[in-house]
Amino acid sequence: MAAKIIDGKAISAAVKEQVRAEIERDKIKAGLAVVIVGDDPASRVYVNNKKKACELCGIQSFEYALPAETEQNQLLELIDTLNADKNVNGILVQLPLPDHFDEKAVIERISPLKDVDAFHESNVGKIMIGNYAFLPCTPAGCMELIHSTGVDVAGKECVVIGRSNIVGKPMAMLLLHENGTVTVCHSKTKNLTEVCRRADILVAAVGRPNFVTADMVKDGAVVIDVGINRLENGKLCGDVKFDEVSEKAAYITPVPGGVGPMTIAMLMKNTLTAARIQNS
Ligand code: NAD
Repeated sequence: MAAKIIDGKAISAAVKEQVRAEIERDKIKAGLAVVIVGDDPASRVYVNNKKKACELCGIQSFEYALPAETEQNQLLELIDTLNADKNVNGILVQLPLPDHFDEKAVIERISPLKDVDAFHESNVGKIMIGNYAFLPCTPAGCMELIHSTGVDVAGKECVVIGRSNIVGKPMAMLLLHENGTVTVCHSKTKNLTEVCRRADILVAAVGRPNFVTADMVKDGAVVIDVGINRLENGKLCGDVKFDEVSEKAAYITPVPGGVGPMTIAMLMKNTLTAARIQNS
């Protein structure tokens, strides 16, 4: 039986509408600063999408496009200025930064109260113990998509493929917070196919096109595809071989139109949360 396609576009539109309505109702002044260094075309697209989402939600957006040759100190100074700016509630530095930057030091410079990506060590620690204001946008978006299926995570076998700090690890933690039985797989995992086949909820965050094939998927599973891979023909494709896996799963996210739009919607939600905390 063909899987139900989880419509990330529609769910993200609903989240953004909720943010917009709350901002209007409570007369909240919220601002998001997005800093982009260099001219990576994919990053440029993401930044433009974030700007559009801000406009839609009634969040003021401040964009700082810096040349690739910008020095670390200059970027840190800009972050200090934004940390002190009352009109800026959230600060996002678009990653990856050019090679000469120390990304970790840049992230740590952002005030944890304005860290709407939730990448700062103190926010990561808070997520670990389940006492957080912000959740990292992509894993939080995946959780919304899972919730939309009505499938209860509690007691389910959940398998996350990928252990990056921005997707795989926090994703595993959020599933664990909802009482899933969580396995994290990575490049050194043995018997990956068998492990994945146990999953009631399978999240793929590998960054390799069509990596998850039907033989890795349990009948009736929820499959969340985080991957965004650009093929040689210019088309976007996920980590999951959509055509065959959608014949086996009960629910599946498409690429594009699945996790991607959710990431931006959750960023809007985090910016609203940041504004509420800072204004209170
Ligand atoms: P990453 O490269 O940091 O991590 C990839 C992970 O995959 C690693 O932990 C690695 O151990 C694992 N891996 C690699 N080869 C493997 C193998 N053969 N078997 C099992 N595991 C293997 O990537 P990331 O930043 O976590 O991103 C993953 C994907 O998600 C990318 O395609 C990225 O573009 C996409 N992404 C999408 C969004 C979104 O908004 N939709 C956000 C962030 C990342």
